[in-house]
Amino acid sequence: MSQLPSSPSRRAALRGLAVAAGAVVIGFDPVGRSWAVAATSSDTVAGDGLVGLPHLDGTLLTDDASLAADADDFGHIVHRRPVAVLRPGSVADVVAMVRFCGAHGLKTAPRGQGHGAYGQAQVEGGLVIETAPLAEIGAVGPRSRTVTVGAGAKWSDVTKAALAHGLTPPVFTDYLELSVGGTLSVGGLGGQSHHHGAQVDNVTELRVVTGAGELVRCSPTRHRELFHAVLAGLGQCAVIVGATIRLLPAPTTVRHYLLPYDDLNTFLADQRLLVTDGRFGYVEGQVVADANGAFRSYLLEAVSYDAHPDDARLLAGLHHNPTGVQTADLAYYDFLDRLAPAVAALKAAGLWAYAHPWLNLLIPGDKAASVAGGILDALTPADLGPGVVLLYPLLRERLHTPLLRTGDDPVPYLLAVLRTTPPDDTATVQRLLAANRTAYEAVRAAGGTQYPVGAIPFDRADWRTHFGSAWPALAAAKRHYDPRGVLVPGQGIF
Ligand SMILES: Cc1cc2nc3c(=O)[nH]c(=O)nc-3n(C[C@H](O)[C@H](O)[C@H](O)COP(=O)(O)OP(=O)(O)OC[C@H]3O[C@@H](n4cnc5c(N)ncnc54)[C@H](O)[C@@H]3O)c2cc1C
Repeated sequence: MSQLPSSPSRRAALRGLAVAAGAVVIGFDPVGRSWAVAATSSDTVAGDGLVGLPHLDGTLLTDDASLAADADDFGHIVHRRPVAVLRPGSVADVVAMVRFCGAHGLKTAPRGQGHGAYGQAQVEGGLVIETAPLAEIGAVGPRSRTVTVGAGAKWSDVTKAALAHGLTPPVFTDYLELSVGGTLSVGGLGGQSHHHGAQVDNVTELRVVTGAGELVRCSPTRHRELFHAVLAGLGQCAVIVGATIRLLPAPTTVRHYLLPYDDLNTFLADQRLLVTDGRFGYVEGQVVADANGAFRSYLLEAVSYDAHPDDARLLAGLHHNPTGVQTADLAYYDFLDRLAPAVAALKAAGLWAYAHPWLNLLIPGDKAASVAGGILDALTPADLGPGVVLLYPLLRERLHTPLLRTGDDPVPYLLAVLRTTPPDDTATVQRLLAANRTAYEAVRAAGGTQYPVGAIPFDRADWRTHFGSAWPALAAAKRHYDPRGVLVPGQGIF
């Protein structure tokens, strides 16, 4: 970083440039790969050898706190330090800085809420684009039943805006404080997916900035190949800056059921029955440790959106234990936001800052009992920590996004081992990463794959296997839309 002599013309050109922590980024040194920062914009300017910045409506940050924050994520396992952070004041800022990165060989990645577990939104020596300022929520269209939002909007805010009009997005992640761009880049799975697919299956249009720095609208009918390269595309071809999301009429209250099981096969069979006949609006499930620490107790979680739920009809033909059934009537939003109290407690106890070597797998339904059973047999309460294990089925016929890979089975099961472990115990973290890899390999051998939000060591060859028949289209789109390969290196795909 340097301070350079003043010149009036340069000073004028720099007006409106990025400001951070009392300093002004006045240019980029392409040789030293560093930014020139001045104390104020009025007395210091870029000089020879420095490349000036484009005009920005927002801020470009190079202070330690900003760089350190974006060299971390929810996983607290990987730490890659960027050289700058963009807090865009407009979509034009994203265009300008993606072009700038392309011109100067800098890598860049958008970051929504930073809830990836394994450095997915981090960029060593590059630029992080924080999308949080791009959080506008457009008018909710009662007739079109859509809403157009900025990529940085959180699902909690999008949902509240839609509910004010009696409407709701169709599918939710279990936690609502994730960004729209962040979940659309991975898929967005939830208990409603057996009816409505993933969140990516409920997008009617995207606004994106490609790796070449072009602002493009795409949809199933317009720049279709770009649309399909971006949804669940792990940020490889474009930065999502806006999305139009389909909405449905919202229930006001729902009835929530927790049904206990002590046999894995019975649990899986009942879940399969429920997602196939569709009697509930939402179906998930958890695996919990029994008194001996063995993960052999199961809770089927199902929610009826019916205005007048009929318990006898809804529970007919199920084989859960007769005792221990719990039901509760909840306001719809309280159901969607049901994790909020638990998250607040984890934060208060300091556990949100623990490492999260999460394992997220998609297992073919016909092998779910043996493969998930094997992984669960190897799991100990100590290796899960204060996390949870989710296990629930999806319906492949509802999943239409080519890059959301689930394997070929018509009823893939999501197994999510949400491990939580002290971040300074690196030996344990490394051991759990190795265990994740072993579990992934068992799932891959069975024809499944990972759901790429967790922490599984993966190399380029693994990614080719992961994308399978979709790989040639993704590789071609990458060459076309991100010809300089600047976007999202943290996934390690290209
Ligand atoms: C507590 C918790 C609960 C979760 N529950 C679920 C769940 O129920 N279902 C589910 O499917 N997932 C779930 N997830 C996983 C979550 O959906 C992903 O980790 C998601 O990517 C996080 O969103 P984010 O805004 O934090 O993204 P980030 O972590 O900021 O980014 C994730 C990846 O997406 C890219 N990206 C971010 N924004 C954009 C953009 N605008 N354009 C292009 N690429 C972008 C980043 O570069 C990065 O590669 C959960 C995660 C947590 C921490």
